Parts: sequence; C-alpha cells; structure tokens
Amino acid sequence: MDRRDFLKSAALLCALGVAARVDRAIGGETKSSSVRGVVRRRYKNTAIELPLLGFGMMRLPLRGRTIDKAKSQAMVDRAMAAGINYFDTAYFYLGGQSESFVGEALRKYPRDSYFVVSKMPVRKLKRASDLELIFQEQLRKCRVDHFDFYMLHALNAKMFDLAERLKAYDFLKQKKAAGKIRYLGFSFHDTPEVLTRIADAHEWDFAQIQLNYLDWELYRSREQYELLTSRKIPVIVMEPLRGGKLANLPEKAARILKNAAPNSTPAAWAFRYAASLPNVMTILSGMSRMDYLEENIRLFQDIKPLNEQEQRVLAAALRVLRNIDSVACTGCHYCKCPSEVAIPEMLKIYNEYLEDKDLAKFRKAYQAFPTDKRAENCVACGRCVKACPQMIRIPEEMAKIVKLVKK
Ligand code: SF4
Ligand code: SF4
Repeated sequence: MDRRDFLKSAALLCALGVAARVDRAIGGETKSSSVRGVVRRRYKNTAIELPLLGFGMMRLPLRGRTIDKAKSQAMVDRAMAAGINYFDTAYFYLGGQSESFVGEALRKYPRDSYFVVSKMPVRKLKRASDLELIFQEQLRKCRVDHFDFYMLHALNAKMFDLAERLKAYDFLKQKKAAGKIRYLGFSFHDTPEVLTRIADAHEWDFAQIQLNYLDWELYRSREQYELLTSRKIPVIVMEPLRGGKLANLPEKAARILKNAAPNSTPAAWAFRYAASLPNVMTILSGMSRMDYLEENIRLFQDIKPLNEQEQRVLAAALRVLRNIDSVACTGCHYCKCPSEVAIPEMLKIYNEYLEDKDLAKFRKAYQAFPTDKRAENCVACGRCVKACPQMIRIPEEMAKIVKLVKK
C-alpha cells in the first residue's frame, strides 16, 4: 500500500464512523476509538499519540526456529489496521531475526505511519567502536533511516557500568542530535536503587520496565514506577502478563476473577491493571497468535481502569498466586545454553508441577523432551545466569528438576 492508498483507506474508515473520540477515563490525555482503533495516549508534551498496546516482536509465530513470515505479516497488517503502530524489536530478539522481519513487514507502509523501536545490545559491546557498527546494522536490518524510540537494552548495575565506560549514552545522544533517534531511553532489570542511579545520570525521554500486578511488590515495580514518574520519565511496560503466567492463572486464583467478571479473562485483568497507571505510555505484548492479537484489540479498543472493587478482587487473586511457589521465568529466551538445555521449557514444566504437584504428569512432560534438551545436561557453567534478567539461579533450578525426575 503506498502513502496515497493508506491515506485513502484512513479517510474511508473515518467516513464509516471510526474516527477517534476523546475518552478521559484513564489519565488526562487518553483517547480511544469508537470502533476500530485501540486507545492512544499522548506522549509527553508532543503531538505524538502512542497506542496503549504496543506490539512486542519477540514472540512472533515460528516455523521451527525461523519466523513464520506469512502468519507474522498478517498479524502486523491486522495490528496496523487497528492502530497498533508501535513495534518493539531488539538486536537479540528471535535469534537476530526480529529486526529484519520488522523492516520487511513494515516497508509497504509510509514511514510516518508507524513507530520503530529498537535497542542497543549493551552486553554484546566489547569496545566503543562496536556502537556505530551495531547501530548501522540495526538501521539496515530495520530498513529505516532513524529509530522513533531507541534504548540501551536491559540495563542493570553491571551493564550500566559497561555502557558508561564505553560512553554509550554520549554516542546515542549524538545520534539523536543527528536525527537518527527521536526519543532515547533504556530498558531495565534491577533494583530501584540502581534505577535511581541510571535515571539521574542522564536525560532520558522514557524508560521501559517490567510491571504487572504480581511484580508490583515482588519485583519492586511500584518503586520503579514511582521513581520514574517523580522524574517525569514516561514508562513503557514490558511483561504485563509476566511471560504468560498472569494469563494462565492457577485455578483457585482464576476462579476469583471469573466469579467477579464472568466475561473477562485473566489477561484482561492484568492489562487493565497496567493501563490504570497514568504515567504508562504503552503496554507491550509479545503476541504469538492472531487470536491473541484479536482479543487484545477488542480489549484495548475501550480499555477501562480497574475500579476500587475490582482492585480488591485482584488483590484476593494475588494472595492466592503469591502462596504458590514458582520460578520467576518469563520465557524471554535470553539464556542461551551451550549444552543445549531447553531452559525456559524446563522451568515451565517445573512451574506447572509446583502448582499442581502432579509428579507423573511432570515426569511425562520431562521425558517428552529430546534427551539433549533436558535439565540433566546442565553442567552448571553459569553462563545462562549472566543473561537472565530475572536473576534466576538456573543451575540450581536445573538440579532441582533432575532430583524431582529421579524422585
Ligand atoms: S548453567 Fe546449565 S543451563 Fe545454564 S548455560 Fe550452563 S549448562 Fe546451560
Ligand atoms: S530463565 Fe531467565 S533468561 Fe531464561 S527464559 Fe527464563 S527469564 Fe528469560
């Protein structure tokens, strides 16, 4: 579709009554569409309106290990049609395929009709000259001449020290001055104390943090959100469903939500929780299926904040959830194991066991994995631990899994 066709179809949709209407239900500057588009929020004091639902490009449909381009393209097209034009990719996503796919999928749309968001892979940096090489590679892969939003990826205390040593912020600031980046921020996984250090070290346009109702206290997301809000740094939310955990609640917790709202879903409760926070600009969802995208579009067309009664219901479900032991894996796949252990998949079946205590089911699930992917191949090298944003002690968890299989 060229620019003229795009504008033509937009005009047609307006004529059919899909023009945006102002909805002040959430925050002061929220807009929602009456029929088609998802709710949007104004970004800072700019004229930019971001969709409240952003498309995370890290969990696209796959065919084996490669992106299923036909299915993924159809999802991008559907997202664009629904006004979800914020595409969050990164150098590491999907083994490096995500950025190239974003470039390919969006090239048929006018450049000013979507936001391309990517990140500098700090942990890949060895020397300052890598910054330019990687940045140019990313522009090429995404087929753009600038990024709308760009971040230092997955900062924690160690990665921030590395970025500072290599003067990564100064490098990106120059790119911003040159028009190669419109808004500069960082994504973050560490404590509020480290966040304070980073937030106060430079001028940031936004920050991306892990935020959901389970992590609000557990991962200290509340403190992180408040800290950023007090500094007028807009928040982009990642992991609103905690890697799918909040979409697939244990039965007892799910029942509490179902009784309160029979037509709602656990995922909708979690999204509405994040959407209730006024300093949240966009909530990312890594959608891997068209039906998830459709469900999210329906929800975000007219998303409402949780009222007090609903917050009490959610708190009751949370109490149940927090009483169930689990490993905090979000399935991000940042951990690459040289011994080929399928770490997130192992943790997933282990978490299922912790929930239902069905040992026979757990053993069956474990044995369904090819032998070279199983936890028993872990040699405790610790490499995965360095990559895990949730700071999970993976070798210890693998040892527990092996012990459980042998039980
Ligand atoms: S600690 Fe175990 S699971 Fe982690 S990378 Fe090393 S071998 Fe793989
Ligand atoms: S173990 Fe950590 S790095 Fe690996 S998938 Fe889970 S959260 Fe991500």
